[in-house]
Amino acid sequence: MEIFLTEYAGVCVGVKRAIKMAHRTAEESSGPIFVLHEIVHNTHVVNDLANRGVHSVDDVSEVQGGTLIISAHGVSPSVIDEAKSRNLDVVDTTCPLVSKIHRIVKALADKNYTILLLGEKSHDEVMGVQGHAEDHIHIFHRKEEISGLPLTNGPVALVSQTTQSIKYFDEILELLLKRYPQLEVHNTICDATEKRQTSALAIAGNMDVMITVGSMSSANSRRLQEVSGGLCAASYLVDQASEVQAEWFSGRERVGVTAGASTPDYLIEDVIEKLKEISLQKGVAPSVIRNESAEEEFIEVH
Ligand code: SF4
Repeated sequence: MEIFLTEYAGVCVGVKRAIKMAHRTAEESSGPIFVLHEIVHNTHVVNDLANRGVHSVDDVSEVQGGTLIISAHGVSPSVIDEAKSRNLDVVDTTCPLVSKIHRIVKALADKNYTILLLGEKSHDEVMGVQGHAEDHIHIFHRKEEISGLPLTNGPVALVSQTTQSIKYFDEILELLLKRYPQLEVHNTICDATEKRQTSALAIAGNMDVMITVGSMSSANSRRLQEVSGGLCAASYLVDQASEVQAEWFSGRERVGVTAGASTPDYLIEDVIEKLKEISLQKGVAPSVIRNESAEEEFIEVH
């Protein structure tokens, strides 16, 4: 089989930074250490952190003392206030690109904008963004929800969860402009998401099978699987190599591999090794084609 790894796949700079900060905290802090929800949405990363003594909590109220790590997805200011009122040491690993959205919605709210936030209501990042402009934000995700968004004579702006599909954002924008002709648009889908989607789309149409490596809890991994599925019907999301099933490749030769922004490199390598084994079992010598990517850097954040 021919195995193609997309140009951009796996951990982004924001996730790398958050994991590094959490590891350093685990090494250097003395008292108990907790992380609010999941540091990043990957089960392997979360389990590894638990093995280092950093356990997830669902709410600040569960923490009686010690250090609280804020995940890469960011939180509402009220969460930080509560942590401080409990005298917790706060280590904030919020991705700078999420913090940028916090600043945008805060500035829009100060100017009394109605803010339409394209995102998943129950996602940590979306709930955190909402907390920065509580009364001004209207969260929606499905096209059918647009007719229920408020009509107003005042200014209206659109922002997005960082991990939305770029194609879907454009479709939503077209519909919104009919309802809000003066809409102010802030495309806050992050650079890492865009690069992973673009490079998956660049190969998916020529593949017999597309594999996305990432956890179900990872919004950007689910999105990668969806966008790949638009061009390649046999598109699967797997958390680890053991979930890859040999029957998916029966009569199929070209396999594309991509991975979400929270997926560590070793999980991608494990999947590639599993695909090589499956190819050998079929009696076909595998070849792996890797598209070299440039080192990613944070785009300048203002
Ligand atoms: Fe930051 Fe984007 Fe990575 Fe999320 S996916 S951590 S917003 S760079």
